Amino acid sequence: MKEILDYLPEEYGLNPSFNNNQLAKFIYQKYINDFDEATSLSKDLRAKLKKEFNLMPLKLKNKQISIDKSIKFLFELKDKHTVESVLLPMKQERVENGIKKSAKYTICISSQVGCKSGCSFCLTGKSGLIRNLSSAEIVAQVLFIKKYAQIPYEHGVNIVFMGMGEPLDNLNAVAKAVKILAHNDTLAISPRRQTISTSGLAKQIIELGKMNLGVLLAISLHAVNDELRDKLMPINKAYNIKSVLDAIRQFPIDARKRVMFEYLCLGGINDDISHAKALVKLLHGIKAKINLIYFNPHKGSEYKRPSEERVIAFRDYLQAHGQNATIRQSKGLDISAACGQLQDEQKRLEEVQ
Ligand code: SAH
Ligand code: SF4
Repeated sequence: MKEILDYLPEEYGLNPSFNNNQLAKFIYQKYINDFDEATSLSKDLRAKLKKEFNLMPLKLKNKQISIDKSIKFLFELKDKHTVESVLLPMKQERVENGIKKSAKYTICISSQVGCKSGCSFCLTGKSGLIRNLSSAEIVAQVLFIKKYAQIPYEHGVNIVFMGMGEPLDNLNAVAKAVKILAHNDTLAISPRRQTISTSGLAKQIIELGKMNLGVLLAISLHAVNDELRDKLMPINKAYNIKSVLDAIRQFPIDARKRVMFEYLCLGGINDDISHAKALVKLLHGIKAKINLIYFNPHKGSEYKRPSEERVIAFRDYLQAHGQNATIRQSKGLDISAACGQLQDEQKRLEEVQ
């Protein structure tokens, strides 16, 4: 059986072709649960669709709601593997000339089961790569959550590929998912509202750039020299800092936009002002937005969450030296929303059951 969410509407191949758009709107805009709810399609066609296609490749296994209203979802895939996604309500809407500009929600999605990059601070990396997600499984996370939270389809959402997995290690499925999500007859989420976060696979950054999808790029930098980055992120041995920055310089970015640099602050490891100083130097000439993230400790992790004063001092130094720098609000910290942690809790739950 094929997964309908794997395809762009024009690939459904329905006759007359007008049925393609009709069906897409039923799935993505009216949130149908069954092809029979696509009432404007003929009975025969609905029967054919039911035979050929499956509608939803995942189901909800667990969820946790945080005091700041973010919701973390644990999804079970057909082969029983699990991935997680987070719905984050945005605090503020930007209003320009009376028009609401920013989306009310951000949805953080996964691209793989596990991850082979093996970053030393990350829970997802501990399990290694189990498998890539299909485009359908990526798209389904967004569709399921919009439907579940009853977000009307016309309410824009931002998408961040910051859940489990390394999106650029699953580039084709991720690129296809971006296109499906952006299609006018589906969720119509502009690629400019979709951010792909990578640990820095330089070769694939260049490849993604050549695809000209119009997506935004976020780089998990986390260290300002190769010696430290090698230790935190083994991928740095294949693609060192210079090669990542060279790839970013070739990446097509909308003139009004910036490349986001995520900098995970690990207490006593990379949060000293000397690191901030080196960061300013390193990013010279790149239109960057630096997002400082507090390390979210998990069971058995060797790192510490840094003190607030140190992170604020780090941000202030960056800002004083002309960088656009912010501290990411640790949304959902009470439900341990950093990557891989809900899945880990579920495993522990199952172990005691
Ligand atoms: N693989 C991609 C995207 C998924 S990880 C990447 O690494 O960019 C998304 C972000 O979560 C990354 O910036 C990652 O460094 C960060 N992260 C991983 N473990 C974390 C933890 N314990 N606390 C806070 N952030 C974490
Ligand atoms: Fe993979 Fe990203 Fe976790 Fe590193 S931080 S192990 S790249 S998911």
